[in-house]
Amino acid sequence: MLNKVVIVGGGTAGWMTASYLKAAFGERIQITLVESGNVGTVGVGEATFSDIRHFFEFLGLKEKDWMPACNATYKLAVRFENWREKDHYFYHPFEQMRSVNGFPLTDWWLHQSPTERFDKDCFVMASVIDAGRSPRMLDGTLIDQPFDEGADEMQGLTMSEHQGKTQFPYAYHFEAALLAKYLTKYAVDRGVKHIVDDVKQVNLDDRGWISGVTTAEHGDLTGDVFIDCTGFRGLLLNKALEEPFISYADTLPNDSAVALQVPMDMEKRGIRPCTTATAQDAGWIWTIPLMGRVGTGYVYAKDYLSPEDAERTLREFVGPAAADVEANHIKMRIGRSRNSWVKNCVAIGLSSGFVEPLESTGIFFIHHAIEQLAKNFPGEDWNPTHRDLYNKAIGNVMDGVREFLVLHYVAAKRTDNQYWRDTKTRAIPDALAERIETWKTQLPDSETVFPYYHGLPPYSYMCILLGMGGIDLKPSRALALCDGSAAEREFSEIREKTRRLTEVLPPAYEYFAQHH
Ligand code: FAD
Repeated sequence: MLNKVVIVGGGTAGWMTASYLKAAFGERIQITLVESGNVGTVGVGEATFSDIRHFFEFLGLKEKDWMPACNATYKLAVRFENWREKDHYFYHPFEQMRSVNGFPLTDWWLHQSPTERFDKDCFVMASVIDAGRSPRMLDGTLIDQPFDEGADEMQGLTMSEHQGKTQFPYAYHFEAALLAKYLTKYAVDRGVKHIVDDVKQVNLDDRGWISGVTTAEHGDLTGDVFIDCTGFRGLLLNKALEEPFISYADTLPNDSAVALQVPMDMEKRGIRPCTTATAQDAGWIWTIPLMGRVGTGYVYAKDYLSPEDAERTLREFVGPAAADVEANHIKMRIGRSRNSWVKNCVAIGLSSGFVEPLESTGIFFIHHAIEQLAKNFPGEDWNPTHRDLYNKAIGNVMDGVREFLVLHYVAAKRTDNQYWRDTKTRAIPDALAERIETWKTQLPDSETVFPYYHGLPPYSYMCILLGMGGIDLKPSRALALCDGSAAEREFSEIREKTRRLTEVLPPAYEYFAQHH
């Protein structure tokens, strides 16, 4: 039986993989994780997808177990600021789109335009976030109880099997470096062997498969399956096995980031329970509220901006609180490995691929990859079908997310400098260009978005198209022939629910002050 797994790399990807495989296979699998004490990990203060809760559920962890250890807070949406024009903002929330008489509510919104704010008219969450509320009451009750019951029924499904069945109302912000630390204990307690050492060499057998890795002080580590979690280096997959990396630079040119972790008195500042992406002259700045600090950074294209200017802009954006904080400049490798599983090596995390964190997809990619690996775990015959299914799923997720991110730039109304003008003339994937033409007459639905699972449902596309404001959209012509009173009632119900929730839900900070 193939049961000896060697994981190289102890960042979020390495420890999430070790923990999940132990939870899935228990004593029947032997895992050794080796991480360098000299090469650091990426950890900037991360935001996630709401599906990440399935990862914690799978491990048997409750929020109270891990959230305080990771300075975690709730994320109810991404808030996009200044992508349309200065001082404009909108939310892309974790809230499924309602339908009225077979048409999505956004379609009715285009037809009736109750106000100028599609997000506030169509979703409850937008106003809940503006009011800085927690999605849970102080006693822990969730705003919509059925979500919790639904979650129990869904346990054991992968994210792709789960999509579309429910939409959990929030995700998390946390420090990925602290999550890796927390999971180190989880995994080691369950039998994962942990070695801190540098891998100096990757050894191949006659077939070109990995037979072991040579470390500086612990000799050779041998195994059946090798998992490359070495980050942007791709030490096993890209370097040793020479698997090519497919760059997305032609369509997503942002290749650099400068990050700051800014200590803050969150009681004074308050917590806005969302990730904010504020458009800038050559990219955008993320703001992620954590307990005790704010994670922030400027994602930019170095063809348009120097690292010094990016850091200066970021410091001005944050203000005096960042004065003594050291900046972390990161060069991002944007794209994906052609195949993430080659021979007996599977790359997970940044070694597999990465896109700019505009929709918080880095840890989602990791979670998805781990689920797919557990599902397709190889047997002794190394049946290539498992590998091929895995590679297809990973490639589809990343290519789908790429399309979605490109859409943000194409749809953004801003054209006030060369960077933003170029977003309108740069090549985009052919299929996306066709889809955008379709969406001008019919809003995205499950038949017209990227056709394979990539974590983003059609309503996410609607939010970006409606919020970014650069593409003219029309309501379905059929709506002119329909009775619109049911839609009017729906808009009014949303207003009423919003009013009630913003009254009863506690401020987000107050919730965490009590629960952390
Ligand atoms: P790393 O953290 O780079 O870890 C690599 C590991 O490999 C380290 O332990 C290192 O010591 C080890 N290693 C390397 N070489 C050797 C060697 N020779 N021998 C032994 N060990 C070695 N994700 C999100 O979900 N949301 C976000 O908001 C988000 N924001 C991001 C912002 C930026 C700017 C970046 C760059 C990433 C962001 N991510 C985000 C992604 C997320 O941070 C990473 O996906 C995640 O931390 C996983 O990284 P990793 O474990 O693959 O790699």
